[in-house]
Amino acid sequence: MRKACVVWFRQDLRLDDNPALSEAAQLGSPVVPVFIWSPEEEGDWAPGEASCYWLHQSLAQLQERLGGLGLRLILRSGPALKHLLQIAAQVGAGTVLWNRRYEPVAIRRDTEVKSALKARGYEVGSFAGSVLREPMAIRNKQGRPFLVFTPFWKHYLALGDPDPPRPQPERLAAPRTWPESSPLDELGLEPRIDWAQGIRDAWAFGESGAKRELERFLSEGLSGYAQRRDFPGQTGVSRLSPHLHFGEISPRRVWLSAREWASQSGRLQDGEAELAFRRQLAWRDFAVHLLFHYPHTSSEPLRDEFKRFPWTIDKGRLRAWRKGMTGYPIVDAGMRQLWETGWMHNRVRMIAASFLVKHLLQDWREGARWFWDTLVDADLANNTMGWQWTAGCGADAAPYFRIFNPITQGLRFDPQGRYVRRWVPELSRLSDQRIHRPWTASPVELTSAGVVLGRDYPHPLVEHSEARQGALDAFHEMKSGRA
Ligand code: FAD
Repeated sequence: MRKACVVWFRQDLRLDDNPALSEAAQLGSPVVPVFIWSPEEEGDWAPGEASCYWLHQSLAQLQERLGGLGLRLILRSGPALKHLLQIAAQVGAGTVLWNRRYEPVAIRRDTEVKSALKARGYEVGSFAGSVLREPMAIRNKQGRPFLVFTPFWKHYLALGDPDPPRPQPERLAAPRTWPESSPLDELGLEPRIDWAQGIRDAWAFGESGAKRELERFLSEGLSGYAQRRDFPGQTGVSRLSPHLHFGEISPRRVWLSAREWASQSGRLQDGEAELAFRRQLAWRDFAVHLLFHYPHTSSEPLRDEFKRFPWTIDKGRLRAWRKGMTGYPIVDAGMRQLWETGWMHNRVRMIAASFLVKHLLQDWREGARWFWDTLVDADLANNTMGWQWTAGCGADAAPYFRIFNPITQGLRFDPQGRYVRRWVPELSRLSDQRIHRPWTASPVELTSAGVVLGRDYPHPLVEHSEARQGALDAFHEMKSGRA
C-alpha cells in the first residue's frame, strides 16, 4: 500500500475544486484530512467572534462530507507544525499537501512548516486554490505590482479565463488506522452565550450553502447585477463573500459558473451583468495582490503621508457608530445589519466606513478591527483594502476630499427606504422623503410616525456640513505637514 498523504485544510473547506485534495486522490494514497486550529499563529488577526462561529459550522459540514467518502476530518488545536509532524508520523505518511494562503503571517508560518517537513524527509506540495490567479504571478508592464485596479483588471481580461476548476474526487482511500482527533466542540469556536441566532437565520453554511447561494444568485440575481448591485434594499448581490473567504466554494468555480450562465442566456444584457460580476471577483484578487506585495498595510497606510493624519480618539463616537446609533439612518441600518447577521451590503460598508473616518474622524484601524470581529466574511486582504480605500490612504483610493453625504447616499441608493425600514424599524413609518433625514420632519410628521427624536432614535451625532469641513481641515493639516 502507498504511504498515506496528509491534506491540511485551512481556508479551503470544500471538496470541489480543491487542488490539494485532487492531488492526493491522484497519488492514490490513503488520505488523512486535517484541520488545525492555531489562532496564535495568525499574528494580530486571529479570527474574530463571528468568523469563529462560521468556522465551527463549516467544519461540521466538512466532517460530514468527508465522512460520506469514508474519511475522517482530524481536528487538532495548537501549533500547526507540531500536529502535522505528529499526525504524519502516526499514519506513516510520505506526503503533506495544502492550498496556499497569502496573508504575510500565514506565508511566514507555511514556509517554516514546509522546510521543517522537508528536513524530516516528507514530500510537501502546495497549490493555488483560493484566488483566480496568484499574486506573485501578476506584474504590470514595468515588472512591478499593480497599484491601480483598472489596469489590473485589463491585465486579467487579457490573460483570459483562469485554470478550470477540478471536480470533486470520486474516490479517496482511507488509512488503516486513524490518528486521534479532538471533538469539534473542544476547539471552542462557538460562543458560550448564544448570540448567533441572527447569523443562523441569515445563512446556510458550508459547501452546500455556498452552492445553494450561487444557484440562487444565477437564477434570481445575476441578470440585474449591473443595475441593482448598489441598492441594499434589493437582492441584487451574490452574498458569496463568507463562502469565498472560508473556501467553501472556489473563485474559479464561481467565475466559470457565471461564464456558462451568460453563454447559455446569450442575451447582451446578461453578458454585461456577468462581466460586472466577474470584475468584482477580480477586486478580491486585487486585494490579495495588494496585501501580498505590501504586507504592512493591514496596520499601516499604504500612502505614507497618512501616517500624519490627525485622527481623534472619541470612545463615545465610536460606540455610537458600532451600535448603529449615529442618527444617520443609512449608517445605522448598516451597522445593525452587521451586528445581527454578520454581513453588510457593500454600498453601505462604504457609507458607514466613510462616516466613521471622515465625519467622526476616527482612525480607520478602529473600524477595520470592529468589522474584523463582527463580519462573517472578515478577510484580511479585503477588509484592509476596503478600509484604506475609504479612508483615502490606500491603493486606488477614493480621494480624501470626496466625502460621502450619508443623506444623499441614502436617498439615491435606498430611495423607498426599504433597507432602513428593515434595520431601523423605529423609523419605519416615516415617509420616503424623511426616512433618511428624520430631523427634518415636522413635529406632525414625527408624531404620526410615532417617533420622538432623542428618545426613540438619536439626533444626528454630528451635523453633515460641519463634519465635512472638519474632515477637510484635518486633511489640509496633514498635507501641510502641520499635523
Ligand atoms: P458581490 O457583489 O456579489 O461580489 C462577489 C464577490 O466579489 C464577493 O463575494 C467578494 O468576494 C468579491 N468582492 C465584491 N466586492 C468587492 C470589493 N469591493 N472588494 C473586494 N472583493 C469584492 N469583503 C470581504 O469579503 N471581507 C471583508 O472583510 C470586507 N471588508 C470590507 C470593508 C470595507 C470598509 C469595504 C468598503 C468593503 C469590504 N469588503 C469585504 C468588500 C465587499 O463589501 C464585500 O466583499 C461584499 O459586500 C460581499 O458581498 P457579496 O458577496 O454579495 O458581493
